[in-house]
Amino acid sequence: MSARIIPVEPFDFVVFGGTGDLAQRKLLPALYHRLQDGQIPEGSRIIAASRDELDTPSYRSLVLSSIENSVPEDIRDTPLLERFLQLCHHVTVDAGSELGWDALGALLRGREDHVRAFYLAVAPRFFGPICEQVGRHQLVTPLSRVVIEKPMGRDLASSKLVNNAVGAVFNESQVFRIDHYLGKETVQNLMALRFANALFEPLWNAAHIDHVQITVAETLGVGGRGSYYETAGALRDMVQNHLLQLLCLVAMEPPESYSADSMRDEKLKVLKALRPIDADNAARLTVRGQYTGLNTANDRIPSYTEEAGLSRSRTETFVAIKAEVANWRWAGVPFYLRTGKRLPSRVSEIVVCFRPIPHNIFDQSSGRVQSNKLVIRLQPDEGVKQWVMIKDPGPGGMRLRHVPLDMSFAEAFGIRNPDAYERLLMDVVRGNQTLFMRRDEVEAAWRWIDPIQEAWEQDDTAPNAYTAGTWGPTRSVALIERDGRTWHEETV
Ligand code: NAP
Repeated sequence: MSARIIPVEPFDFVVFGGTGDLAQRKLLPALYHRLQDGQIPEGSRIIAASRDELDTPSYRSLVLSSIENSVPEDIRDTPLLERFLQLCHHVTVDAGSELGWDALGALLRGREDHVRAFYLAVAPRFFGPICEQVGRHQLVTPLSRVVIEKPMGRDLASSKLVNNAVGAVFNESQVFRIDHYLGKETVQNLMALRFANALFEPLWNAAHIDHVQITVAETLGVGGRGSYYETAGALRDMVQNHLLQLLCLVAMEPPESYSADSMRDEKLKVLKALRPIDADNAARLTVRGQYTGLNTANDRIPSYTEEAGLSRSRTETFVAIKAEVANWRWAGVPFYLRTGKRLPSRVSEIVVCFRPIPHNIFDQSSGRVQSNKLVIRLQPDEGVKQWVMIKDPGPGGMRLRHVPLDMSFAEAFGIRNPDAYERLLMDVVRGNQTLFMRRDEVEAAWRWIDPIQEAWEQDDTAPNAYTAGTWGPTRSVALIERDGRTWHEETV
């Protein structure tokens, strides 16, 4: 079966930072796949803007290698690739000076009836200057949109400055704040499971759900991003955006419709209902960690400070938080969040753990009755598994077994799982903001994060050390185990 597509209008997709890592690894391959599926209409253009004095043919060579590096050979198609290269152009523009803005204006002139997307794949310090220049050169049309990536500030105050600078030129309905986790198939499937089935919603509350775990684990360290990471840390880099967005989708009330504002209104209510964590309770409800190095048989995994080139640092590379959504639906249900670098495996997942059965009718020989779990895995192996107890098939009496019912259907439907950016870039062109964050959401998330950060800054202790390749500091295990629960580990 081939993927069904929603047609979009012809567009000009202007990528500031079109030669950078994000453009080469994510944006260009995503657009290539959209062309492959027939979603990019005739007359569309991809216009990369950077300070590099590349002419368009040289830029196309760079695009070619990006596609060759990102798209598996067996699904590459030479005539299609040639068509894709023809869509791509480069213009030399400096966000920080007048260089190139007239040339960009000339390239866009006369195409005001086309959708125009400005994707800011540049360092956040350029968001304001680029918007200002785009406004001053009168490049904003009624069909224009702007896309910004994290980090959107490093606290509430700086996030407001970013939003003000963008908002001075674009209306909120034109601003697309991207969190690529929201474009993942499985995350959208969570919405389908919750709101297109009668089965889950009656159980989706404190009466039936014991707790929720959200884990985003990375195996890599900070690599060459040490200087950025030192200004951020795991709380700002991961929790403020990805983990809180996932928490919102699990915890939100059913929206009135699957429309941008209904969805975002409900997510905002969740963020506002998060019980504050500050200097009074941060030590009890949060754990900070930083990885130390590890000597292996023939190698050494560096510590965070070695990797970032620092003699000492108090920046956390791991966070675990026991959060609570203080409302009727979720009262008393902990949401355990954890994220970190240099952990044993790369995995992002939400685990919804249901309450134990109220009474066990089976005797000991049947084995332990384990609680139901719904595991929504974003990566790797995107998919949804519902863990249930069954009778072990065959003879041998009434022996019970905990098994996962696989509810991922991409393989069954014979469809390639699209990268999140494919979906999100086309949503930008269509002007659909459902999977993008509204200003008030981003600011509400910072409003919850800032007191945690402040509590840590007031606290004299350093983050807890954990050895690279382990699941964070032992205090993270203690955070959940003192409540009589354990972090989920896949066993099948
Ligand atoms: P990058 O590899 O350093 O690329 C930066 C791009 O910006 C280059 O094309 C660079 O080209 C251009 N640039 C720099 N200064 C400029 C200026 N004054 N005027 C015009 N263009 C300029 O960075 P990146 O990793 O792609 O990240 C871009 C943004 O996306 C950052 O905000 C980052 O935090 C965010 N992000 C990245 C990723 C990722 O996977 N890479 C993921 C999430 C968010 P020239 O130097 O030639 O001008």
